[in-house]
Amino acid sequence: MPKAPPPKCPVRIGEPCTLCVPGATGPHDCGLVYLVQDDPEMREELARRRRAARSATTPGGRS
Ligand code: SF4
Repeated sequence: MPKAPPPKCPVRIGEPCTLCVPGATGPHDCGLVYLVQDDPEMREELARRRRAARSATTPGGRS
């Protein structure tokens, strides 16, 4: 049975989770992800970057 791909890092857009935060076993218990999601400004900035990354990789600029 093929191994599941590593989960994507929610804050390093387009990259897999590399367990870069000490103690994290994945995005679900990553302290950095928690901090970013808990801060309204950082959450909005992350959403803005996700939209920018998506439109950069989507033909026509929209999904
Ligand atoms: S440990 Fe957290 S910040 Fe690091 S790659 Fe995984 S989800 Fe992203």
